[in-house]
Order: sequence, then structure tokens, then C-alpha cells
Amino acid sequence: MSKDFAGGCACGDIRYEISGEPMAMVDCQCRDCQLKSGTGHSSYLAFPRAGVKLTGAATHWDLVADSGNVKTRAFCPKCGSPVYLTFPANPGVFVVHAASLDDPGRYKPQFVTYAVRGHAWDKLDPALPKFEKMPPR
Ligand SMILES: [Zn+2]
Ligand SMILES: [Zn+2]
Repeated sequence: MSKDFAGGCACGDIRYEISGEPMAMVDCQCRDCQLKSGTGHSSYLAFPRAGVKLTGAATHWDLVADSGNVKTRAFCPKCGSPVYLTFPANPGVFVVHAASLDDPGRYKPQFVTYAVRGHAWDKLDPALPKFEKMPPR
């Protein structure tokens, strides 16, 4: 058993603790992830929702992703940090931003999604598998 993944926003109003291992760790270069991060991609860990303990009230904003699926961004109304993402069509999944972890070094990216949207200046690890959009299921 490894220790729980804990983290939250910059001001500390939103906190999470997650037991269990991530199902996937992904760098995403889609336009939404660029707009949200302010740079070329966002980095995520996806967990089963069942292991998540969440405190604090995030502001939620729904958008239609490049994939056509609705995703709900959750960010802190005070400090503005993006903290997690949920998917109305897939409520069993809870996704956190890698930098929101108390120990961001635990993030180990496995692949890149939406590389088709990537910019030449956003260099990711060349050893990572890259998918133009989402990996095939
Ligand atoms: Zn905050
Ligand atoms: Zn994305």
C-alpha cells in the first residue's frame, strides 16, 4: 500500500485525499488544457471517484471538450487554482492536476493526448507515447 495522494489549491481552501493508485497519468495538449494552464498543456492523474475525500467548495464550470464530451472544471473561487475535473457522463472518475499534489514528484506521465494541438515550443518527454487525440479504447 502506498500512501494516499493528497493535495489542493494554492490557498488551502480546497483539499483532497485519495486512496488507491492512479488509473492513468496524462499530459494533455488540447486547447482547453492550454487555456486552463496558461501554457502548452496540463498534467493529470485520474483516480476512481470512490477513493476520494474532498473538502472545501470549488467553483464549477462545464465545457464541451475537444472530444465532444462534457467536462466540469473545478477551481478555487479564492485563489483561482485549477484543482480537479469531473465528467458528468462518467461519474466514477476523478481527475486532479499534477501540480495540485502536495508532492508533485509523484506524477509520472504515461502518455500525451491531443498532441495534434501541441505547439512547437511545448516540448514534452520524447519517450512518451503521443496520441493525436485520445488513445483508442
Ligand atoms: Zn484556493
Ligand atoms: Zn486537454
